[in-house]
Amino acid sequence: MIKFDPITTLLLDTWKPLLLLLLPFSAFVMWFFHWPGRNAKITPMRASKFSPELVPKNLDTIVIGSGSGGCACSNLLAQAGQKVLLLEQHEERTGGCTHTFHLEGCEWDTGLHYTSEGMSLPTHRAGALLNFMTRGKQKWRRLDDPYDQIFFPNDDNVAPGRPNFNNYEFNAGSKNVIRSLIERVDPNNDALKKQCETWMELCTMVNEGFTHLGISRVIPSFLHFMLRKSIKKLYTLASYTVRDVQYAIFNCNYSIEDLLKGCPKAPDGPEPDPILRRVKGVLNHPIGDYAVQPRVATFVAQGITMAHYMEGAAYTVGPTQNISIRSSSMLREMGGEVLCDATVENIIIEKGRAVGVRVRNTSTPNGPVTEIRSRNVVCATSVFNLYHKLLPQDHPVVKEFLDPNKRTIVESNGHVFLFCKIKGDAKELKLPTHNLWYFNSYDLDSAFDKYMIDPVHERPPTVYIGFPCTKDSTWPKRYPGISNCILISDGLWSWFTKWSGLPVHHRGAEYEKFKDQLARHLLDILYESVPQVRDKVEYWTLGTPLTEDTYLHSYNGGSYGTRCDTNMFAEPNHKWTTTPHTKIPGLYMAGSDAFLPAVCGAMYGGILGASAILGYVGSLRLVVAFMSEFATAFQEEDPKLSRPAAYTRAIRNFITEYVAN
Ligand SMILES: Cc1cc2nc3c(=O)[nH]c(=O)nc-3n(C[C@H](O)[C@H](O)[C@H](O)COP(=O)(O)OP(=O)(O)OC[C@H]3O[C@@H](n4cnc5c(N)ncnc54)[C@H](O)[C@@H]3O)c2cc1C
Repeated sequence: MIKFDPITTLLLDTWKPLLLLLLPFSAFVMWFFHWPGRNAKITPMRASKFSPELVPKNLDTIVIGSGSGGCACSNLLAQAGQKVLLLEQHEERTGGCTHTFHLEGCEWDTGLHYTSEGMSLPTHRAGALLNFMTRGKQKWRRLDDPYDQIFFPNDDNVAPGRPNFNNYEFNAGSKNVIRSLIERVDPNNDALKKQCETWMELCTMVNEGFTHLGISRVIPSFLHFMLRKSIKKLYTLASYTVRDVQYAIFNCNYSIEDLLKGCPKAPDGPEPDPILRRVKGVLNHPIGDYAVQPRVATFVAQGITMAHYMEGAAYTVGPTQNISIRSSSMLREMGGEVLCDATVENIIIEKGRAVGVRVRNTSTPNGPVTEIRSRNVVCATSVFNLYHKLLPQDHPVVKEFLDPNKRTIVESNGHVFLFCKIKGDAKELKLPTHNLWYFNSYDLDSAFDKYMIDPVHERPPTVYIGFPCTKDSTWPKRYPGISNCILISDGLWSWFTKWSGLPVHHRGAEYEKFKDQLARHLLDILYESVPQVRDKVEYWTLGTPLTEDTYLHSYNGGSYGTRCDTNMFAEPNHKWTTTPHTKIPGLYMAGSDAFLPAVCGAMYGGILGASAILGYVGSLRLVVAFMSEFATAFQEEDPKLSRPAAYTRAIRNFITEYVAN
C-alpha cells in the first residue's frame, strides 16, 4: 500500500468525496464528447450477398431495408459505436429507391430524379447531415433554373385579353415562381399575386411545422410546450385537402389566420373561372412528388414539397446508387456488416420484445432460414410491410393496426415507369437539362378520376419526364453516345393484382399487352414533348407496381409508404406513422414512414430512428458531434468566421432550415 505524508493524507481525506464524484463525471464527459465515428474513414464497397458466416457476433441493432432511411439510421448508430447489421432483400443492390440498374448497356435511377438544393450544400442541414454520414464523399450538382417545366395540352379556355400559355417554369425562389406564374396567366393582377403569396407563406409555415415535429420526436416531452403552437398549426393544415385550401385562398380570399380557424369545402366539379383554373392547375405542380390527387391530398404534402424546392434542385454526381454504398460502408468500419440478397421473413418477438429476425436468401426462396439476434430491430421499410408481413399476425399490436377503427392510414399509390435508352449524345440531341412535367388538364381531379377508371384509353393525369444523362456530369464519360430517359405516371395496384402471384418476366401475354398499352401513352407524350428523340429510342421497358413489389418490396406496389391524404396526420394514426417509435419494445421504424416521403424525408426518418434507439443523451451526443462538423463547414465557406459565430450559424440553420419533402 502506498504511504502518503500527513499533509497529502489530510488533503486526500478532505477531497475524497469530491474525487469520487469527479471521476465518474469526467468519465461521462469524456464519453459524451468522444464520438466513435469521428475518425472513421470509409472505403466505399458494395454489399456482399447474405450468408450466415458473414453475420457479425453480438449485434446491437439489425436494420431491415437499405433505402435512404435504413442507410441513415444504420450509419449513425454505427458512428455512435454500435455493431449494426443492415439487411437488404434486393439480390444485388442496396439503396432501395436510390438504387440504379443496368440493361441493354444503359443505366437508370429508380426513385431519385432530383432533390432539394439543400441536399447538395455542406452549409445546409440536409447536405451537412449527408456529408456527416458519407465523410463528404457524396457530391451533388445544382440543377440550372428552371429546374422544372410543366406543360399542359393546348387549351383555349382563357379569360378575354389574357395570355394563353401552355407551359410554366419553376425557378428557385418563391418570388420567381409567383412572378412567372402571374405573367403567364394574368399579368398586373395584384390581388391574385397577393393570394399566391399567401399560398407560399402557408408552404413555409408547413415547413416550419415539420421541422418542429421532427425536433419533438427527439426531445423529452416536458420540452414540447415550446413547439406545441407550430405543430398544432401543422396538424390543422394537415386536415385540409389541397383542393379545399386552394378554394379558401383563391375563391374566398382567406388569410392564413382565417384558414387556421377553418377551411371551407370546395364545391364539386371543375373550377369555372378560367384564370383561377389555370392558377390552381399550375400550383398543383408538386403533386407528382407525392402521387395523391388534390381532392384527397393533405395540404401539408403540397406545402412541404413546394418548400423543399424553394431554393432550387440538385442531382447526384455519378449514379444515385453511390449514396447507399457510401453511407452504408461506415458500418463495416465500425465492426458491422451490410448484406443484400437477404429477405427478412419475420421479426422475432420474445416476451413481448423484438429480439432479432429470421432471414433467408432472396435468390433461393426455399432455402434455409437463419435466425439472427440483436438488442434492437429497426424496420426501414414501410409500416404496412411491418404489420402485414413482418410481425406475428396474432400479436395484439398487429390486431390493432388491422382494425379499421384504430387505423385510417392507407398505403400510397404506385406508379408506372418507362425507362428508355436513346441513341445519341444528350448535348447533340439538345435534351432538356431540367425536368418536364406533362399535366393532362388544369382540372386535375377529373383527369385523375378518368384515368384511374380507364388507363388504357385515357392519358395519365401527370407524367414526369427526366433525362438523368443531362444532370449527372459523369454520364458522358461513362456512357458516350448514349442517353437515358425516365417517364413516370400514376399506377394502381388494383390494376395488377391478378398477376401479383406470378414470377418476374413470366406474367403472361395479357400482362405484357396491358403494359404495352400503358407504355404507348408515355411514348406518345415523350415524342410530343421532345420530338428530336422520336426515332432514337433504341430500347424501352415498362415497370409497374408489381416491379416495385419485386425490387423494392413496396407494400402493394405503393411508392411513398403512407399515402399523403388527410388521415396521415390525424390523431389516431400518430402511433403508426411519422414516428420512429412502435408499441413493441426493442422495435423501431426508420425511413419515410418514420417521418416523410422522398429521399430527404426518408433520410430524416432514418435519423429519427437512430435517435430513438440512442435515447435523449445519446441523441444529444450525436447532435454535438454533428454540430462540430456543421460549424466547420461554415468556417470553410467563410474562413474569417470565428468558431462561436460558426456554431451560432450552425445552430440557427439546424433549427430553421427546410426540412424535407
Ligand atoms: C418512382 C419513384 C420516383 C421517386 N422520385 C423521387 C425524387 O425524384 N426525389 C425524391 O426525393 N424522392 C423520390 N421518390 C421517393 C423516394 O425515393 C422515397 O420516398 C424514399 O427513397 C424512400 O426511402 P425509404 O428508405 O423509406 O424506403 P426504400 O427506399 O423503399 O427502402 C426500403 C428498402 O427495404 C427493403 N426491404 C423491404 N422489405 C424487406 C425485407 N423483408 N427484408 C429486407 N429488405 C427489405 C427494400 O428492398 C428497400 O430497399 C421517388 C419514389 C419512387 C418510387
